[in-house]
Amino acid sequence: MQKSDCIISVEHVSKHFGEKTVLDDVNLYVRKGEFVTILGPSGCGKTTLLRLIAGFQTASEGVITISGKDITQTPPHLRPVNTVFQKYALFPHLNVFNNIAFGLKLKKMPAATIEKKVTQALRMVGMTDYEDRHVDSLSGGQQQRVAIARAIVNEPEVLLLDEPLAALDLKMRKDMQMELKEMHKNLGITFVYVTHDQEEALTLSDTIVVMSEGKIQQIGTPIDIYNEPINSFVADFIGESNILNGWMIKDKLVSFAGHEFECVDKGFGENAKVDVVVRPEDIYIFDPSEAAQLTGTVTSSIFKGVHYEMLVQTKEGYELMVQDYHCFEVGHEVGLLVKPFDIHVMKKERTCNTFEGKVTDENHVEFLGCSFECSDTKGLAPDTPVTVEVDFDNVVLEDNEEDGKLTGEVKFILYKGNHYHLTVLTDWDENIFVNTNDVWDDGDRVGITIAPDAIRVINQLVDK
Ligand code: ATP
Repeated sequence: MQKSDCIISVEHVSKHFGEKTVLDDVNLYVRKGEFVTILGPSGCGKTTLLRLIAGFQTASEGVITISGKDITQTPPHLRPVNTVFQKYALFPHLNVFNNIAFGLKLKKMPAATIEKKVTQALRMVGMTDYEDRHVDSLSGGQQQRVAIARAIVNEPEVLLLDEPLAALDLKMRKDMQMELKEMHKNLGITFVYVTHDQEEALTLSDTIVVMSEGKIQQIGTPIDIYNEPINSFVADFIGESNILNGWMIKDKLVSFAGHEFECVDKGFGENAKVDVVVRPEDIYIFDPSEAAQLTGTVTSSIFKGVHYEMLVQTKEGYELMVQDYHCFEVGHEVGLLVKPFDIHVMKKERTCNTFEGKVTDENHVEFLGCSFECSDTKGLAPDTPVTVEVDFDNVVLEDNEEDGKLTGEVKFILYKGNHYHLTVLTDWDENIFVNTNDVWDDGDRVGITIAPDAIRVINQLVDK
């Protein structure tokens, strides 16, 4: 992007609330006139990022510019932006006209100019003739239109929208999405939109910024993000996916679900552990034949309006989701095939848990704020700094928090065809990753144990 095309730049921005890092070295460039959506699950920091751009909060580190001006410390009312919130925050004692005119009156604009601008803004949001109505006599969708009119009447260079449709019912939300897209086109200004709804992001945006845990995971067009997710988090968050553990045998040959597949990916090295993503609509399903790469039995088949969504248990013990226009009934034996181009191979972010810690005595090592019994302390002297490795399969979760050595909360669950890969945020505020066959829910409180022989100790001073 040319510098002159860029209206907002966010460079190395972090935000801490006390000890907690909510945004971690975020970098983002927004083009003039672009519709950018910041997308991510609850708590990922997307609202905080928007609030830093709006000026309601100040960055702990980094620089934000709008139209080339450093506005990192500028108060909100002096920034060329307006914000539309999820809760419309209209003045209940004023009618529609006066709600929209409020800011213009504060700026002491002539009455005739205000009248003209308000009428224009109302036309823009399809609310002509509603000037005299009291805002509490309006539906949620109409109130949100008034809130948008109140924001655009100031002719901001950038409109910031924080989940503006979240309070509306599904039908109204879909209608308003189309209207917002149209408004964006007609106004020609830059929209920065926050949502946790991936479908909304795919529908509305020129560019999607996917966030998780205070970090940007991927920036791209809706098509890029859908077709080429950069990691398993993005793949899981955007659309339905089969995400499986695999390994690259060599360039263009990958093994997953107990079978070798030709693919188009290369450059991962030989025998490298990878994540493999296959979209359900990219798996061909048919009566068993020689063309099948995998065979299995349909265990669930649901009509989804246009296609059928089916789960197939393969002979090798993996569960795959398949979408097809034809229905294969539960119990039906089927063959499956995936074409090389539809297999997406991604580097694994990590292959085991690693923690910083120290040996405390010949049978114990300390990490994650706890002392763990360990059979691999290698006779190291107390206080020797070590790196600790624990395989995902060797972390055990307990229903009863008291049964665990430490406690935490299940934050993110990834189904990998024959097991779940969980991210658990420990109460020490560090993540631990777990492979399990047990079914857990987001937000479950758990106890965590690790067997003494499952802890590998690496002497930081020598073994590296
Ligand atoms: P949601 O969709 O639920 O609003 P979000 O992705 O917009 O989530 P943020 O509102 O940006 O997330 O919050 C990110 C994290 O920062 C959360 O853990 C939240 O509790 C924390 N947080 C936000 N504001 C503050 C604050 N003023 N003080 C302390 N923590 C905060």
